[in-house]
Amino acid sequence: MTGSESSFTGCLLGLALGDALGAPFEGHGPFAAEVETLFNRLPPALRYTDDTEMAIGVAESLAAKGGFDAEHMARRFAENFNPARGYGPGTIAVLGMIKRGVPWHAANRAVFPEGSFGNGAAMRAAPIGLFFAEDLERLKEVTFIASSITHDHALAKEGALLITHAVSGIIRGRSNNEILDELSGTIETEEYRGKLDAIRELLKAPASTETVIERLGHSVLAQESAPTALYAYMRGGTDYPETVRLCISIGGDTDTICAMAGALSGARAGFEGIPPELIERLEDSDRILDLASELYRAG
Ligand SMILES: [Mg+2]
Repeated sequence: MTGSESSFTGCLLGLALGDALGAPFEGHGPFAAEVETLFNRLPPALRYTDDTEMAIGVAESLAAKGGFDAEHMARRFAENFNPARGYGPGTIAVLGMIKRGVPWHAANRAVFPEGSFGNGAAMRAAPIGLFFAEDLERLKEVTFIASSITHDHALAKEGALLITHAVSGIIRGRSNNEILDELSGTIETEEYRGKLDAIRELLKAPASTETVIERLGHSVLAQESAPTALYAYMRGGTDYPETVRLCISIGGDTDTICAMAGALSGARAGFEGIPPELIERLEDSDRILDLASELYRAG
């Protein structure tokens, strides 16, 4: 397996912890200067949401099968489903149908005739970037099919590719500029090409939270959150807490934006880059650590 075990554990813990840290702020903000205070007022036990539960499903399925099996992954999503995790109503409906035995490609179209372009595929996709880091053709193919299980719209699938390809670039030791160039070579929709240009521009100088929201967005749509997470990661670099704080300050769909940016930052910083006092407070952190190691060994 390419990459270090530490980048695998950093990525999954970074995702789960980002989700848990961002969740209390979901739907609010932007927070500007207060964010430091808010961050210090988090509950002692950090609970993750649907983002992490589904990312666990992705990682479990890849590890169990030693590769990608869409039917297996879809079943795993349905089996892991816990209604207390804050799933969106569309995903609840799709997973309910899958649980009752409806094939996923029929279930997703029954619920979303045009395909959903929410960020529900991008939020869980990071483990695919870890597992298929070296094979970019397969990475894209698997990212798209794995997204389709619940989110079968080009914008949802390319939002997920933004995250998986960036994870892969980090694992392959690429610089942020190289990752942006690679993404421009593989992304096909105008929507995301424009967002990649906006990220490059925003990174050139300090940018206000308002400008970031205006150029990149902070909503539950894939195209208005995956680019925001990529930007936040590139701004925060290997400073994991700073990256998460930046995502919280942007507000909006904070759990998902923090989860996506947290996965990228954690992959770059490695396990050692995530503060142990935060890991200790994270629900199921031992299970997530074991799963990341299992995924590392499964490749
Ligand atoms: Mg969530």
